Amino acid sequence: MIAVTLLGGTGSIGESTLDVLARNPDLYRLFAVSGYRRLDELLQICQHFQPEYAVVPKEAAASFQQRLKSSGLTTQVAEGEEGLVWVSQHTDTQVVVAAIVGAAGLLPTLAAVKAGKRILLANKEALVMSGALFMDAVQEHQATLLPVDSEHNAIFQCLPQQFADKPLADQGIEKLLLTASGGPFRGWKKEQLKTVTPAQAVAHPNWSMGQKISVDSATLMNKGLELIEACWLFSLQPEAIQVVVHPQSIIHSLVSYKDGSVLAQMGNPDMRTPLAHALAWPERIDAGVAPLDLIASGALTFEAADDDAFPCLDLARQAFKAGGCYPAQLNAANEVAVDSFLQGQLGFTQIPEVIDRVLQASEPRPANDLEILLSEDGRARDLAQQTLKDFITN
Ligand code: NDP
Ligand code: MG
Repeated sequence: MIAVTLLGGTGSIGESTLDVLARNPDLYRLFAVSGYRRLDELLQICQHFQPEYAVVPKEAAASFQQRLKSSGLTTQVAEGEEGLVWVSQHTDTQVVVAAIVGAAGLLPTLAAVKAGKRILLANKEALVMSGALFMDAVQEHQATLLPVDSEHNAIFQCLPQQFADKPLADQGIEKLLLTASGGPFRGWKKEQLKTVTPAQAVAHPNWSMGQKISVDSATLMNKGLELIEACWLFSLQPEAIQVVVHPQSIIHSLVSYKDGSVLAQMGNPDMRTPLAHALAWPERIDAGVAPLDLIASGALTFEAADDDAFPCLDLARQAFKAGGCYPAQLNAANEVAVDSFLQGQLGFTQIPEVIDRVLQASEPRPANDLEILLSEDGRARDLAQQTLKDFITN
């Protein structure tokens, strides 16, 4: 029985993970699970899966422990960020699913890496922020890092098994093709985007996801973060990765080899596929996903991304190329801007403007130290908050 720690159990990835675990009860058990605001849902998860630990924010710990007890459960509560770190590095867990959204997932995910766990990485922001530091820790502590983000999981499946042993170019790989659905505003021009509402932005055509990543998909920042994520996971420069808009979300990404072969991974857009793949790898397990019906899906189409209407993708590319703390600053500014947009304050097209201002006002700093990274993350958030004030009052 493999014991799984699920960071972010109450979210969309959390729900998909729990579904796969429930389908494979002979193979996996839930060791620990975390929630943040949706504690009623967390209680239901505890009732169903009876994990050893549930992690909740400090202020909610005592009352949540009481609720567990009243439900007749022996699940113990662990508190706050320290609790998240503790369940991630615990000797009784082998697999950690990193499914907290945003920078809040960084420290527990890194703790899992440093404890040499198998990490199922959904929380792309953690890797975007800490890049080299994260990948060096994976090497040093011999952690097994498996991408859950559907595109990166697809690429992982299309690469040779030992791809990490030498540069991809030495293995006949010319480039990666990262697919993007284009989001709900594909084909829209800048002028039209000015007045879009949060409700329109979170209504993704193909995927059902948390609010933050849904907005990121609409601005194409999600693809920007994924470009950076792919650069780190596969040791590549952005020039070796082509973003291709593929509105049907059936091909999840591709690898192009120098003999002309292009390998793609396909399937219905359902996160249970990459989660099941990464849980069982190199084996395969049931994920509950309907088989792909190519005749029913119809034509698969491809187009270029519109960098003019959606500047976030290029902002991310430039931040990666500038290196150091720039990706962490980009991520922090994006989190603040998206939050403000979701609260109905900032306009949709102002999201990239806020990020650009923060990056312009930032100094180059090496990102080889966690403290520096966290302080730059905080500084970029403060700067983004100040910038918001200018934007919202004008
Ligand atoms: P959701 O918003 O649905 O879930 C986020 C999870 O993180 C919830 O469990 C939430 O708790 C928890 N959380 C939020 N803030 C904090 C915090 N400050 N401290 C601790 N926990 C916190 O997001 P998704 O599941 O959609 O996404 C999770 C991650 O996976 C993101 O990084 C996203 O980019 C990535 N991802 C998601 C995909 C998807 O299809 N959804 C696809 C690929 C990647 P609570 O709900 O209790 O408040
Ligand atoms: Mg993705």
